[in-house]
Amino acid sequence: MTSRPPSTAGAHPDPGAVPVPSPGPGAGAAPGSSGKRRSLPGAGLAKGLAVTLRTMTRRSVTEHYPDTQPELPPRSRGVIALFEENCTVCMLCARECPDWCIYIDSHKETAPPTAPGGRERSRNVLDRFAIDFSLCMYCGICIEVCPFDALFWSPEFEYAETDIHELTHERDRLRAWMWTVPEPPALDPAAEEPKEIAAARKTADKLAAAERAAAEQPAAGQPVRPEPSEPAVRPERPGRPEREGDA
Ligand code: SF4
Ligand code: SF4
Repeated sequence: MTSRPPSTAGAHPDPGAVPVPSPGPGAGAAPGSSGKRRSLPGAGLAKGLAVTLRTMTRRSVTEHYPDTQPELPPRSRGVIALFEENCTVCMLCARECPDWCIYIDSHKETAPPTAPGGRERSRNVLDRFAIDFSLCMYCGICIEVCPFDALFWSPEFEYAETDIHELTHERDRLRAWMWTVPEPPALDPAAEEPKEIAAARKTADKLAAAERAAAEQPAAGQPVRPEPSEPAVRPERPGRPEREGDA
Protein backbone atom coordinates (compact mmCIF):
# COMPACT_ATOMS: atom_id res chain seq x y z
CA MET A 1 0.00 0.00 0.00
CA THR A 2 1.37 3.40 -0.99
CA SER A 3 0.68 6.56 0.98
CA ARG A 4 0.16 9.88 -0.82
CA PRO A 5 2.22 12.86 0.24
CA PRO A 6 0.25 15.72 1.85
CA SER A 7 -1.16 18.06 -0.83
CA THR A 8 0.23 21.59 -0.93
CA ALA A 9 -2.13 22.87 -3.67
CA GLY A 10 -3.52 26.29 -2.80
CA ALA A 11 -1.23 26.73 0.17
CA HIS A 12 0.45 30.08 0.49
CA PRO A 13 4.24 29.79 0.18
CA ASP A 14 6.28 30.77 3.14
CA PRO A 15 7.56 34.29 2.37
CA GLY A 16 10.87 33.64 4.03
CA ALA A 17 11.44 30.25 2.42
CA VAL A 18 14.64 29.67 0.48
CA PRO A 19 13.93 27.65 -2.66
CA VAL A 20 15.94 24.49 -2.94
CA PRO A 21 16.74 23.61 -6.56
CA SER A 22 15.04 20.51 -7.81
CA PRO A 23 17.47 17.69 -8.47
CA GLY A 24 15.77 16.90 -11.78
CA PRO A 25 13.67 14.00 -12.91
CA GLY A 26 16.49 11.53 -13.26
CA ALA A 27 18.37 12.38 -10.15
CA GLY A 28 17.80 10.54 -7.01
CA ALA A 29 17.13 12.29 -3.76
CA ALA A 30 20.27 13.38 -2.00
CA PRO A 31 20.82 11.62 1.21
CA GLY A 32 19.46 13.63 4.08
CA SER A 33 17.44 16.12 1.89
CA SER A 34 13.66 16.14 2.48
CA GLY A 35 12.75 18.37 -0.59
CA LYS A 36 11.13 21.04 1.63
CA ARG A 37 11.93 24.77 1.53
CA ARG A 38 14.09 26.06 4.25
CA SER A 39 13.48 29.51 5.67
CA LEU A 40 15.85 31.76 7.47
CA PRO A 41 14.85 32.27 11.06
CA GLY A 42 13.01 35.61 11.52
CA ALA A 43 12.71 36.35 7.74
CA GLY A 44 8.88 36.37 7.83
CA LEU A 45 8.87 38.70 10.83
CA ALA A 46 11.26 41.10 9.07
CA LYS A 47 9.08 41.15 5.95
CA GLY A 48 5.97 41.85 7.97
CA LEU A 49 7.65 44.70 9.80
CA ALA A 50 8.80 46.14 6.48
CA VAL A 51 5.21 46.19 5.19
CA THR A 52 4.07 47.83 8.44
CA LEU A 53 6.71 50.53 8.21
CA ARG A 54 5.92 51.18 4.54
CA THR A 55 2.18 51.64 5.11
CA MET A 56 2.64 53.66 8.31
CA THR A 57 4.17 56.52 6.34
CA ARG A 58 1.35 56.66 3.76
CA ARG A 59 -1.76 58.83 4.13
CA SER A 60 -4.71 56.81 5.39
CA VAL A 61 -7.62 56.42 2.98
CA THR A 62 -10.01 55.20 5.64
CA GLU A 63 -12.93 57.55 6.31
CA HIS A 64 -14.74 57.51 9.60
CA TYR A 65 -18.21 57.06 8.15
CA PRO A 66 -20.85 57.83 9.42
CA ASP A 67 -19.11 60.40 11.66
CA THR A 68 -17.50 61.86 8.55
CA GLN A 69 -19.43 62.03 5.33
CA PRO A 70 -17.45 60.82 2.32
CA GLU A 71 -16.60 63.33 -0.37
CA LEU A 72 -18.25 61.71 -3.33
CA PRO A 73 -17.90 62.94 -6.88
CA PRO A 74 -20.96 65.00 -7.82
CA ARG A 75 -22.02 62.53 -10.51
CA SER A 76 -21.92 59.47 -8.24
CA ARG A 77 -24.59 56.86 -8.87
CA GLY A 78 -26.36 56.85 -5.54
CA VAL A 79 -30.08 56.84 -6.26
CA ILE A 80 -32.32 57.68 -9.21
CA ALA A 81 -34.48 60.80 -8.95
CA LEU A 82 -37.65 61.40 -10.96
CA PHE A 83 -38.63 64.83 -12.26
CA GLU A 84 -42.20 63.77 -12.86
CA GLU A 85 -43.22 67.08 -14.43
CA ASN A 86 -41.12 66.08 -17.43
CA CYS A 87 -42.35 62.49 -17.65
CA THR A 88 -44.71 61.81 -20.56
CA VAL A 89 -45.22 58.11 -19.64
CA CYS A 90 -43.56 57.03 -22.86
CA MET A 91 -42.46 53.80 -21.06
CA LEU A 92 -39.06 53.83 -22.73
CA CYS A 93 -37.16 53.55 -19.45
CA ALA A 94 -39.28 50.62 -18.26
CA ARG A 95 -38.85 48.80 -21.57
CA GLU A 96 -35.07 49.27 -21.68
CA CYS A 97 -34.36 48.44 -18.04
CA PRO A 98 -32.46 45.12 -18.10
CA ASP A 99 -33.72 44.21 -14.63
CA TRP A 100 -37.36 45.09 -15.21
CA CYS A 101 -37.41 47.00 -11.95
CA ILE A 102 -39.28 50.13 -13.10
CA TYR A 103 -43.02 49.98 -12.58
CA ILE A 104 -45.23 52.52 -14.36
CA ASP A 105 -49.02 52.80 -14.37
CA SER A 106 -50.96 55.44 -16.24
CA HIS A 107 -54.30 56.28 -17.78
CA LYS A 108 -55.39 58.40 -20.70
CA GLU A 109 -57.24 61.67 -20.43
CA THR A 110 -58.79 63.75 -23.15
CA ALA A 111 -57.86 67.39 -23.20
CA PRO A 112 -60.17 69.94 -24.86
CA PRO A 113 -58.94 71.65 -28.03
CA THR A 114 -56.72 74.63 -27.44
CA ALA A 115 -58.32 76.64 -30.27
CA PRO A 116 -61.93 76.81 -31.45
CA GLY A 117 -62.56 74.21 -34.12
CA GLY A 118 -59.48 72.23 -33.05
CA ARG A 119 -59.28 68.57 -32.19
CA GLU A 120 -59.44 67.04 -28.74
CA ARG A 121 -56.16 65.61 -27.63
CA SER A 122 -55.51 62.60 -25.45
CA ARG A 123 -52.59 62.51 -23.07
CA ASN A 124 -51.11 60.04 -20.61
CA VAL A 125 -51.46 60.78 -16.94
CA LEU A 126 -48.99 59.15 -14.57
CA ASP A 127 -50.56 57.06 -11.80
CA ARG A 128 -47.56 55.19 -10.50
CA PHE A 129 -43.82 55.36 -11.04
CA ALA A 130 -41.66 53.16 -8.85
CA ILE A 131 -38.14 51.75 -8.94
CA ASP A 132 -37.16 48.65 -7.00
CA PHE A 133 -33.63 49.38 -5.83
CA SER A 134 -33.22 45.85 -4.52
CA LEU A 135 -33.15 44.74 -8.17
CA CYS A 136 -31.56 47.79 -9.79
CA MET A 137 -27.96 47.29 -10.86
CA TYR A 138 -27.29 51.02 -11.33
CA CYS A 139 -26.45 50.68 -14.98
CA GLY A 140 -27.99 54.07 -15.80
CA ILE A 141 -29.69 52.89 -19.00
CA CYS A 142 -33.05 54.34 -17.90
CA ILE A 143 -31.47 57.77 -17.43
CA GLU A 144 -29.68 57.58 -20.76
CA VAL A 145 -32.75 56.61 -22.78
CA CYS A 146 -35.26 59.00 -21.23
CA PRO A 147 -35.96 61.46 -24.06
CA PHE A 148 -37.52 64.07 -21.79
CA ASP A 149 -34.89 64.50 -19.06
CA ALA A 150 -37.13 63.10 -16.36
CA LEU A 151 -34.58 60.85 -14.63
CA PHE A 152 -31.36 61.94 -12.93
CA TRP A 153 -28.62 60.46 -10.78
CA SER A 154 -28.35 61.69 -7.23
CA PRO A 155 -25.23 60.96 -5.16
CA GLU A 156 -27.42 60.22 -2.13
CA PHE A 157 -26.75 56.67 -0.95
CA GLU A 158 -28.08 56.45 2.61
CA TYR A 159 -31.32 54.61 2.00
CA ALA A 160 -30.51 51.15 3.29
CA GLU A 161 -33.49 49.34 4.78
CA THR A 162 -33.99 46.35 6.99
CA ASP A 163 -37.07 45.32 4.99
CA ILE A 164 -36.38 44.65 1.32
CA HIS A 165 -39.86 45.86 0.35
CA GLU A 166 -38.91 49.32 1.54
CA LEU A 167 -36.33 49.50 -1.24
CA THR A 168 -39.10 50.02 -3.79
CA HIS A 169 -39.27 53.79 -3.96
CA GLU A 170 -42.58 55.14 -5.12
CA ARG A 171 -43.20 58.28 -7.13
CA ASP A 172 -43.22 60.76 -4.24
CA ARG A 173 -39.96 59.47 -2.83
CA LEU A 174 -38.34 59.47 -6.26
CA ARG A 175 -39.54 63.06 -6.73
CA ALA A 176 -38.09 64.05 -3.35
CA TRP A 177 -34.67 62.78 -4.45
CA MET A 178 -34.66 65.57 -7.06
CA TRP A 179 -33.68 68.01 -4.29
CA THR A 180 -30.40 66.13 -3.89
CA VAL A 181 -29.47 66.17 -7.58
CA PRO A 182 -26.46 68.47 -8.09
CA GLU A 183 -26.66 71.31 -10.55
CA PRO A 184 -25.24 70.60 -13.97
CA PRO A 185 -21.79 72.02 -14.63
CA ALA A 186 -21.69 75.56 -15.96
CA LEU A 187 -21.78 76.03 -19.70
CA ASP A 188 -18.68 77.01 -21.58
CA PRO A 189 -18.97 80.78 -21.99
CA ALA A 190 -17.94 80.47 -25.64
CA ALA A 191 -20.54 77.78 -26.36
CA GLU A 192 -23.59 78.40 -28.48
CA GLU A 193 -26.71 79.11 -26.46
CA PRO A 194 -28.79 75.93 -26.06
CA LYS A 195 -31.94 75.80 -28.14
CA GLU A 196 -34.15 75.35 -25.08
CA ILE A 197 -32.76 78.46 -23.39
CA ALA A 198 -33.02 80.49 -26.60
CA ALA A 199 -36.67 79.45 -27.02
CA ALA A 200 -37.43 80.26 -23.38
CA ARG A 201 -35.77 83.65 -23.69
CA LYS A 202 -37.76 84.42 -26.85
CA THR A 203 -41.03 83.52 -25.11
CA ALA A 204 -40.10 85.61 -22.06
CA ASP A 205 -39.28 88.59 -24.30
CA LYS A 206 -42.62 88.25 -26.07
CA LEU A 207 -44.51 88.11 -22.78
CA ALA A 208 -42.65 91.15 -21.45
CA ALA A 209 -43.43 93.10 -24.63
CA ALA A 210 -47.12 92.15 -24.39
CA GLU A 211 -47.21 93.25 -20.74
CA ARG A 212 -45.60 96.57 -21.58
CA ALA A 213 -48.09 97.14 -24.39
CA ALA A 214 -51.00 96.30 -22.07
CA ALA A 215 -49.69 98.73 -19.43
CA GLU A 216 -49.48 101.54 -21.99
CA GLN A 217 -53.09 100.98 -23.16
CA PRO A 218 -55.71 103.13 -21.31
CA ALA A 219 -57.98 101.30 -18.95
CA ALA A 220 -61.23 100.09 -20.50
CA GLY A 221 -64.24 102.51 -20.01
CA GLN A 222 -62.10 105.61 -19.40
CA PRO A 223 -62.49 108.49 -21.86
CA VAL A 224 -59.55 108.91 -24.10
CA ARG A 225 -58.06 112.37 -23.76
CA PRO A 226 -57.13 113.85 -27.08
CA GLU A 227 -53.50 114.49 -27.64
CA PRO A 228 -52.71 118.22 -27.38
CA SER A 229 -52.52 119.50 -30.95
CA GLU A 230 -50.54 122.35 -32.39
CA PRO A 231 -52.12 125.79 -31.65
CA ALA A 232 -54.14 126.97 -34.62
CA VAL A 233 -52.54 129.77 -36.55
CA ARG A 234 -54.78 132.80 -36.30
CA PRO A 235 -55.33 134.51 -39.60
CA GLU A 236 -53.86 137.95 -39.96
CA ARG A 237 -56.41 140.70 -39.27
CA PRO A 238 -56.93 142.73 -42.35
CA GLY A 239 -55.44 146.17 -41.90
CA ARG A 240 -57.53 149.33 -41.83
CA PRO A 241 -57.86 150.76 -45.28
CA GLU A 242 -55.78 153.81 -45.59
CA ARG A 243 -57.60 157.08 -46.12
CA GLU A 244 -56.42 159.83 -48.37
CA GLY A 245 -55.62 162.29 -45.53
CA ASP A 246 -53.49 159.78 -43.53
CA ALA A 247 -50.42 160.08 -45.69
S1 SF4 B 1 -30.24 51.92 -13.48
FE1 SF4 B 1 -30.44 50.16 -14.91
S2 SF4 B 1 -31.24 48.51 -13.64
FE2 SF4 B 1 -31.56 50.40 -12.48
S3 SF4 B 1 -33.64 51.05 -13.00
FE3 SF4 B 1 -32.26 52.08 -14.44
S4 SF4 B 1 -32.16 50.72 -16.24
FE4 SF4 B 1 -33.02 49.54 -14.53
S1 SF4 C 1 -38.40 57.39 -20.38
FE1 SF4 C 1 -38.59 59.31 -19.24
S2 SF4 C 1 -40.49 60.25 -20.02
FE2 SF4 C 1 -40.52 58.08 -20.62
S3 SF4 C 1 -41.65 57.05 -18.97
FE3 SF4 C 1 -39.46 56.92 -18.46
S4 SF4 C 1 -39.10 58.72 -17.15
FE4 SF4 C 1 -41.04 59.06 -18.19
